[in-house]
Amino acid sequence: AKRSGGNDIVEFEPSMVELHHQRTQLEQDLIQAIADNQIKPHYQPLVDLTKEEIRGFEVLARWTHPVQGNIPPDMFIKVAEEIGVITELSDSIFRQACQDALDWPQHMILSFNLSPLQLSDQLISQRLIDILAETGFPPSRLVVEITESALVHDFDAASLALGKLREAGIQVALDDFGTGYSNLSQLSKLQFDSIKIDRSLISNFTRDEKQIGIVRTILALSEGLGMYATAEGIEDEDQLATLRELGCECGQGFFLGRPIGAEATHELLKTIEQV
Ligand code: C2E
Ligand code: CA
Ligand code: CA
Ligand code: CA
Repeated sequence: AKRSGGNDIVEFEPSMVELHHQRTQLEQDLIQAIADNQIKPHYQPLVDLTKEEIRGFEVLARWTHPVQGNIPPDMFIKVAEEIGVITELSDSIFRQACQDALDWPQHMILSFNLSPLQLSDQLISQRLIDILAETGFPPSRLVVEITESALVHDFDAASLALGKLREAGIQVALDDFGTGYSNLSQLSKLQFDSIKIDRSLISNFTRDEKQIGIVRTILALSEGLGMYATAEGIEDEDQLATLRELGCECGQGFFLGRPIGAEATHELLKTIEQV
């Protein structure tokens, strides 16, 4: 009884009808945008804090909707999951990103987000491996970022998928570390190459001794487990200086560089290296 056009819709609050309509339209637009590769990878630098150089980029999906403008990735990824097109969306972004990254300097990594849902897909590692083979981007330069909620969702499936990725020579990073799902026993059972310290721990960082203490402890933990650490959300010079003092290996954030499109990334790399 929710189809538009019939008299039955009169019973609904106008805003509800409108919301339903907008949502249906958004779903259709999303499916079309995926098919047309309209959802574009942007790239945010990951900076080696010791060498003071870019070690690679995180892929962040961007969708400029023709009517609604920029739609945040958190939102359209959730919609893609709900309507069952997350695999298609992810493949489209990943394929474009591998192609873009082919002309980056040989030592640079490409860090790609997988949604928790994708990690319970038994074929996920094979899909990534196939796209790597098809584009010619080397597995050793790929990092797959997984949030802790993926492990809560289905630990056994996630563990299996992670094993396959690592067997293929792909690195795995634990994203948004410290946001609440942290389970240290799971962390020791799974082999992560690196962790990304969530930006909620980095904001207000320099004014809060307790927060500095927490980050110091996370860095000690990651070192103890043989993992590489990246601090997310660095927004000012003080935060950067403090993280350097604490010995954090890698940083990411607006202060170091905002996410930019493929063209701008290419231009940026031209100014610092020979591409
Ligand atoms: P994330 O993986 O934690 O990505 C980092 C987010 O922090 C990005 O937001 C980035 O723009 C933002 N950020 C980076 N530096 C700073 C900073 O200094 N300050 C602040 N306030 N924010 C900063 P974005 O691009 O809106 O992405 C949001 C989330 O959407 C991502 O969080 C990730 O979970 C998801 N996402 C984005 N692209 C993809 C994708 O291709 N696939 C999947 N599965 N998820 C994606
Ligand atoms: Ca991420
Ligand atoms: Ca993150
Ligand atoms: Ca996040």
